[in-house]
Amino acid sequence: MNSATVSAKPAAINLLDFDRKGLQAFFAELGEKPFRATQLLKWIYQEGMTDFDEMTNLSKALRGYLQENCRIEPPTLVAEQLAADGTCKWAVETRCGNRVETVYIPEERRATLCVSSQIGCALACRFCSTAQQGFNRNLSVAEIIGQVYLAQQRLGPEKKITNVVLMGMGEPLLNFDNVVAAMNLMMDDFSYGLSKRRVTVSTSGVVPAMNRLNEVCDVSMAVSLHAPNDELRDQLVPINVKYPLKELMAACREYARTGPRKHITFEYVMLDGVNDTAQDANALVKLLKNVPSKVNLIPFNPFPQSQYRCSSGAAIIRFRDVLNNAGIVATIRKTRGEDIDAACGQLVGQVQDKSRRHLKLQLAEAARP
Ligand code: SAH
Repeated sequence: MNSATVSAKPAAINLLDFDRKGLQAFFAELGEKPFRATQLLKWIYQEGMTDFDEMTNLSKALRGYLQENCRIEPPTLVAEQLAADGTCKWAVETRCGNRVETVYIPEERRATLCVSSQIGCALACRFCSTAQQGFNRNLSVAEIIGQVYLAQQRLGPEKKITNVVLMGMGEPLLNFDNVVAAMNLMMDDFSYGLSKRRVTVSTSGVVPAMNRLNEVCDVSMAVSLHAPNDELRDQLVPINVKYPLKELMAACREYARTGPRKHITFEYVMLDGVNDTAQDANALVKLLKNVPSKVNLIPFNPFPQSQYRCSSGAAIIRFRDVLNNAGIVATIRKTRGEDIDAACGQLVGQVQDKSRRHLKLQLAEAARP
């Protein structure tokens, strides 16, 4: 008998894997009323309770059942790094020994948590260090909401997370169901209760999933655009070959019409001599003509082996001014946490069994009706 069979208690159910609907279904199977779900959410996310015996408003029998069969298990926090500007980066290890990264960015009036959605990434955006990691697997709901759970635990009750952005490692819309359930938990009044304007999913442009998200979950949307035409975007963000700008812009228009913010935030990384001329800015103005937009210009953050350089400050300002003069709100993203490699595109974690073999499958899944 090997050690695996010795500890052969069936894998307990991790309750962090369920949003409210999921918990209600779980309790229904046990013959329990739906309100058990909100009781449990409060215990877990608002009280930080992990011991079922202490959950005094649950019946003794139910507590016993949960004790026996369930667990509340976020991933394991294995490292914490604090940057000079107060940004904090955590490395979080999953059961399979991979690591993803989560970043906390405090500002004067808000505090944003940047959460990862996949172990690595199967998309091959040329300027992103996560892309160099390859892809291992999707994070579970527990591993996504667990990043918020752990961060809030480390920060303590005084420092509230006010915003969550799914801008860490991975393409959130290629892990659709788990990301939606985790975002539901972020916004649930019995859990973290964040407003839908303060939860943002960032996508490289998985068009069918953007359309589907419109129907199931009301969150803010950011799109990683980075180029004003298909020719350049095909190179920088290769998923553009599958979903070119015409389709992407149509999906953005539709999402902006119904989404909570009534606009799309476009992220545009500033690459010296690649996408940063006044001509590029003018082309971008044209492209965004019929889409309610805000543009966030991101100074490129270098990483080992990156082939690009960041645009000069003057080029970034010129680019912003062209947009502003055309009536598009454009801001320059302040780089945070670069001394601990916590800035955009610098998150790498530790990805085992790197491969992009799952990309086809992920795209097929995203295109399901
Ligand atoms: N896959 C999603 C989520 C990642 S978000 C997406 O593409 O939107 C991370 C953001 O940082 C994206 O806008 C990404 O394009 C940008 N980014 C990636 N690498 C970067 C780098 N080296 N410097 C600056 N921004 C980068």
